[in-house]
Amino acid sequence: MLPKDKFYHEGEFSVSDCLFCKIAAGEIPAKKVYEDERVFAFHDIEPQAPTHFLVIPKEHIPSCGAVTPANSAVVGHIFEVIARVAEELGMSDFRVVSNCGPQAGQSVAHLHFHVLGGRDMTWPPG
Ligand code: 5GP
Ligand code: ZN
Repeated sequence: MLPKDKFYHEGEFSVSDCLFCKIAAGEIPAKKVYEDERVFAFHDIEPQAPTHFLVIPKEHIPSCGAVTPANSAVVGHIFEVIARVAEELGMSDFRVVSNCGPQAGQSVAHLHFHVLGGRDMTWPPG
């Protein structure tokens, strides 16, 4: 869990400290489901559904709130990867979630999309 002060004060937070940058670089092991030059996808360490993987850009983008015209192309690519990996894993129905900021439940300050499937989902989310 990232302390809130580190989350907000980027000056104190080095990209070299970023867990998901390290996973994308292969410095920390993860159960990879897909990789190309721009994105990395891997199973969540604490799955909340029978299938639960994360898709991240290799570039460090802190959250959905930091998506700009300069870096948004990778987000479209991430959704292509989500569709492809979901199909490969046999998921026709699934949920895509990105928590933005601590109040919304974001605990890792590197943009990521949760892809969850294999069970009934409820709405609204908690
Ligand atoms: P968030 O809470 O920011 O929306 O999502 C972060 C997700 O990353 C959580 O679902 C958490 O289980 C997952 N996670 C945290 N640390 C690791 C790790 O070291 N490896 C993997 N595979 N997932 C992690
Ligand atoms: Zn990062």
